[in-house]
Amino acid sequence: MNDETALKTSVCILGSGPAGIVLGNILLQNGIDCIVIDRYNREEIYARGRAGAIESTTIALLKKHGLADTILLKGYPHDRCEFRYPDDSFVLEYGKLSDGDVHYFYPQSDLNEDLIQKYLDTGGQILFHHQGIQLTQSDDGIIVECENKNTDTTLKIQADFVAGCDGYHGLARQSVPAEAAKIYTKEYGYRWLAILADAPPASSHTLYGVHPEGFAAYMRRNSHISRYYLQISAHDQLTDWSDERVWRSLHQRLAKPLTQGKIMQKQIMVLRNYVIEPLRYQRLLLAGDAAHIITPMGGKGLNLAVQDAGVLAETLIGYYLENHDLSYLDRYSEIRLPYIWQAQEFSYSLLNMVHLPEGSNPEDVDFLHKLSASKLAQLRTSTTFAKNFARNYVGIV
Ligand SMILES: Cc1cc2nc3c(=O)[nH]c(=O)nc-3n(C[C@H](O)[C@H](O)[C@H](O)COP(=O)(O)OP(=O)(O)OC[C@H]3O[C@@H](n4cnc5c(N)ncnc54)[C@H](O)[C@@H]3O)c2cc1C
Repeated sequence: MNDETALKTSVCILGSGPAGIVLGNILLQNGIDCIVIDRYNREEIYARGRAGAIESTTIALLKKHGLADTILLKGYPHDRCEFRYPDDSFVLEYGKLSDGDVHYFYPQSDLNEDLIQKYLDTGGQILFHHQGIQLTQSDDGIIVECENKNTDTTLKIQADFVAGCDGYHGLARQSVPAEAAKIYTKEYGYRWLAILADAPPASSHTLYGVHPEGFAAYMRRNSHISRYYLQISAHDQLTDWSDERVWRSLHQRLAKPLTQGKIMQKQIMVLRNYVIEPLRYQRLLLAGDAAHIITPMGGKGLNLAVQDAGVLAETLIGYYLENHDLSYLDRYSEIRLPYIWQAQEFSYSLLNMVHLPEGSNPEDVDFLHKLSASKLAQLRTSTTFAKNFARNYVGIV
C-alpha cells in the first residue's frame, strides 16, 4: 500500500451513518471545518435497510438545524401501537397519552441519503470507500490513518478531534484502552429474525405479537415495504427459516391475516446492550452505535445516534467559540449518559414485557412470565403507567 499526502481538518468524523452525517451538517453550518470518512461507497450506505421510527425529540433537533424537510414531507406520523395476543388485543394511543407527540415513519436509508446530499450541497467533504484503520493521539492533535479502498493507498488526516460515529464494529470504540473506560453489556439467550418484505402494510400502526411461541412485530416502512421481526432461538440458522415458515409464524404470532409479499431481506440479529463510559477518550469522542448498542425494541438506536450528534456538535461549537480547554468536552458525556441509560431501561423493560422469558429453571421462567403479564396489564389499565410509557416511547426524555 502506498502513502498519500496528509489532509488537515478540525474534526474528522468516522462514519456517515445518522450520527456522523448529522454532526457533519451541524458543524458545517457553524463554520467548523470537518471531513467525514466512510468505509463504504454511497450505494452501499443507501442500500442498508434499518430503522424507521423517528421520535418527536429527534424531529425537533433536525428541524432546529434545517434537516427535517424531507421527513416532514415524505414521512408519515404514527401515534399508536397494538399489542396482540392469540385471542385478544389492545391498542395504545401513545400520541394522545403524550399530548400529541408522535413518531414519523421514514426509512433510515432515505434519511441518510437526504442528509448526505444536504451535507455535500453545503460544501461538505466526504471520503467514501475510506476505512479508518488507526488513530494516534498526541497533546496537540489526533491522526486518523485510513485506507483508500479505491486506490489501495493510505491517507493520513490530521485533526483536532475525531468523532467516532462508526458503529459498534468500527475503529473508534476499539481505540479506547480498556483502563480508560467502563463497559456495561448484556446479551440474550434468544435472537431476532429481521425481515424486510415487499408487502403492503399489515396495519397502519405498529403491531407487537405476544405469543407462547415467541414475540413477533410488524412496523410499516412505506406503502409497499414492511418490516417484520420474529423472536427465534439463539441456535437457529437462516436456513431454519424458510419464507414459508416465516409467514406462517408471523400469521400465528401476530394473530392477524397478513398480505404476503416477496421477502427482500432476512437477517439474524444478535440482541445486545452495550454502553461505554465516558464518551470521551482524550481527543476521541464516541457517538451513536459506537458508544452504545441497544436492542431494536422501542426503536431507540437511530434516535439516540442523532441526539448524541446534536449535543456533541453543540459541545464542539462551544469549545471552538469560547476557547475552552479539553475538559470542557466532558459535558458531552455528562449530558448524554442519563438519556442513554433512560432509553436502555425503557427498551429493556419493553423487551421483557413482550418476550418469552429466558432461563433454564422453569419456575424462574414462570415467575418472570407473570411479572411481564402484570406490566402489560398495567399498561392497559393504568393511565399513569401508560402516560409514562408513552412519554418514553415517543422520546420525550
Ligand atoms: C435491522 C435493524 C433495524 C433497526 N431498527 C431500528 C429502529 O426501528 N429504530 C431505531 O431507532 N434504530 C433501529 N436500529 C438501529 C439503528 O439502525 C442504529 O442505531 C443506527 O444506524 C446508529 O447510527 P450510527 O450513525 O451510530 O451508526 P451506523 O448507522 O452503523 O453508521 C456507521 C457508519 O460507519 C461506517 N464505518 C464503520 N467502520 C468504519 C471505519 N473503520 N472507517 C470508516 N467508516 C466506518 C459504516 O460504513 C457506517 O456507514 C436498527 C438496526 C438494525 C440493524
